[in-house]
Amino acid sequence: MNITQVFEKVPTQKDCIAHLEKTRWGDKPTCPYCKSDNTARMQHRHRCYNCRTAFSVTVGTIFHHTHVPLQKWFLAVTLMLNAKKELSALQLSRDLQVNKNTAWRIAMQIRKAMNQVDQQRMLSGIVEMEETYVGGKPRKGKKYDNPEDKPKPDHSTKKAPVIGALERNGMLRATSTRTTSSRSGPS
Ligand SMILES: [Zn+2]
Repeated sequence: MNITQVFEKVPTQKDCIAHLEKTRWGDKPTCPYCKSDNTARMQHRHRCYNCRTAFSVTVGTIFHHTHVPLQKWFLAVTLMLNAKKELSALQLSRDLQVNKNTAWRIAMQIRKAMNQVDQQRMLSGIVEMEETYVGGKPRKGKKYDNPEDKPKPDHSTKKAPVIGALERNGMLRATSTRTTSSRSGPS
């Protein structure tokens, strides 16, 4: 995804949350505290029947308790992962129209998250966003009116920017894990 697509595909906070839920959990929201998937949705949050806590998709991620709109975070992730060279905090603050300290914090958090496998998958999911993740995961045997709409099994070209960013952060080894296979559970 590029920044224009971020503006178009996740214009609101709600869209961003829905996208994070897809990339983090697929169809099965999982409690971040006890890892149970015995959960129920309640508006924008979820309730765990196992440990009886309520949680949102941002628990345990860099997006938790942020005052910066999620769309700006998505833009930051996209800019950073798509950048050929490391993006400066100053540049990021201009692009996102946030102050320098906020930009610096966002950049630092994103770099840190790239070193954590589960968060890394979420970040990759933002840059690799496509029809698969917007409006639901395709079901097996789903019919497409236009064969062009069918998601392609090979995502290798779309992974290129992510790998570039990960190389800069010294995390090459994690890129051998195909993010696509881990998202599709048994059906
Ligand atoms: Zn729980």
